[in-house]
Amino acid sequence: MDITAEPSETQRNKCSACFKQYNRKEHLVEHMRISYHSVHEPKCGICKKHCRYFESLREHLTGESQTTKGSLPKIECARIFFVQGCNLCLTILDSPYDLMVHRRMCQLSRLDHGLVSQVSRLSLQREIETCNTRTQVPQVFSLGCKMVGGGSDGSLDMCARVCLIDEDENIFFHTYVKPQIPVTNYRYDMTGIRVEHLKEAMPLKQVRNKIQDFLCNGSPMWKIRMKEGKARILVGHGLDRDLECLGLEYPAHLIRYDIQTGIQDPYEDCVATMRLYKRMRSQAHPTEEGPPSSSETQHRNNFAAWKQKELEKMTPDALLEISRSDYYCWCLDSKQGMDY
Ligand SMILES: [Zn+2]
Ligand SMILES: [Zn+2]
Ligand SMILES: [Zn+2]
Ligand SMILES: [Zn+2]
Repeated sequence: MDITAEPSETQRNKCSACFKQYNRKEHLVEHMRISYHSVHEPKCGICKKHCRYFESLREHLTGESQTTKGSLPKIECARIFFVQGCNLCLTILDSPYDLMVHRRMCQLSRLDHGLVSQVSRLSLQREIETCNTRTQVPQVFSLGCKMVGGGSDGSLDMCARVCLIDEDENIFFHTYVKPQIPVTNYRYDMTGIRVEHLKEAMPLKQVRNKIQDFLCNGSPMWKIRMKEGKARILVGHGLDRDLECLGLEYPAHLIRYDIQTGIQDPYEDCVATMRLYKRMRSQAHPTEEGPPSSSETQHRNNFAAWKQKELEKMTPDALLEISRSDYYCWCLDSKQGMDY
């Protein structure tokens, strides 16, 4: 799928990432300074164009977009994407057969409830084996809560069921929670929770302490706030609401938010969230060469280290080479020795 571009005068000033063209080299340099192009950007599997957002890549491949008035897709890319592209993750596969195989993995399936109840555990006793084997890569857990209603009109959200799963979708902690004030609306249609479920349930405070201790993984909170220690990464759907109703405080750098699934069951919600997170984390972005990835320099463009004249002498490819992302890509979670 190699598209060999014909060399021309203007192409000397063409951005190697987003393909924007500039009459003058200094303008391209200026563009690079503020664009933060990097290997972590969504990229077309056919023409290799970098896009700012996942949705702009979708537009490039299909012409569909919610944000702009349907511009045309790039014809060559759209044609190939149509037969070999996954519309879930926008990856281009080698053949329509490979696409079929890939889609089975990529799709989020509903889960088997019989199996779920078999593996269900009501305690945190089972310390997972992976603890010791993967000390470098932080462990990731997915949290889901079910809320019942409190207060005179039943509109106050109170956590009544909580579920925590590990990366292999095993239930790690799953319990009913006894709210601190009386329940006025069980919201049974949505929660499936009844009076008897909460009678012997674990008190909220105890649940919060267990989850907190577990997530901190033996590291004191001050150390975690300094981005040290072995704390676990938390993923979830509507996590701020879940954490709030549990009364849990957890540092933002260990939380991966923007996952939306729209599923009701807390276990399925956890699983779907975890799968999405793993999909994002497994994005095969090449490791960037260059300055050591200390937390100081990691997410910073290093254009400041170069003189304007030196930059203007570089090829567009070389400029892209030294450009770095200005956001934290989840694929970095899977890189060894990271200090998240
Ligand atoms: Zn660009
Ligand atoms: Zn990445
Ligand atoms: Zn393309
Ligand atoms: Zn896919």
